[in-house]
Amino acid sequence: MTHLATIARHLDALLDTASVPDYPGALNGVQLANRAPIHRIAAAVDVSKRVIEDAIRAQANLLLVHHGMFWGGTQPVTGAAYERLRLLIEHDIAVYSSHLPLDAHTTLGNNVLLAHALGLEPNAGFARYRTIDVGVRGEGDVETAELWRRADTFARLHGGIARSTPIPQGHRTRRWAVCTGAGASSETLREAETSGIDTLVVGEGPHHTAVAADDIGLIVVYVGHYATETLGVRALADHLTTTFGIPSTFIAAPTGL
Ligand SMILES: [Zn+2]
Repeated sequence: MTHLATIARHLDALLDTASVPDYPGALNGVQLANRAPIHRIAAAVDVSKRVIEDAIRAQANLLLVHHGMFWGGTQPVTGAAYERLRLLIEHDIAVYSSHLPLDAHTTLGNNVLLAHALGLEPNAGFARYRTIDVGVRGEGDVETAELWRRADTFARLHGGIARSTPIPQGHRTRRWAVCTGAGASSETLREAETSGIDTLVVGEGPHHTAVAADDIGLIVVYVGHYATETLGVRALADHLTTTFGIPSTFIAAPTGL
């Protein structure tokens, strides 16, 4: 019989939840308590009605997510927000969320796992956020078009597609960086330029990042926000299954982005 408090203590220590900085809406750690011991874990990228209904169907009573219940900011508990909370409480489902602590984790993190999924081996951090590196970078020698193909195959497994800024014929990726989710920004492009990165792999980014990338001779591969953040919650759920012997399920709910 493992209660939420035991799992939460383990996760908080593993992910260093207390010291990793994050955006206020992330609210890392336990977001919603429950009463019964945890008997099945459901992992998902987002909290949505669709995800909660699937967690209920899977008979899970702990929902592990990357973007938590408060990701959209402060809002009244009415309408869809009330419905989500009602379903969770009526089915005694706890919610544990981990945003940047899970992006940045050295073995279970979205960034290291996306690099591995694309056949890349990181040797340093990237995408500085206050005291931490959210992303990873490394060196290699792979045809950039081939890297894009791998990214596209990966994206299609999660209901998306990979896009990229124009890749010149025969262009090779020698110094790359990965930043999952909304990883392309003026800040990460600047950091890529100073670090001599030739290929930046991200989840998504605004149009101006593609324009700016071209000017500094950088290729940006956009793999999809959702797809790039499926890896961490899955790895974390598998880790809990191994540690506590509690079965877990991944709930796919692609957003198309
Ligand atoms: Zn995200």
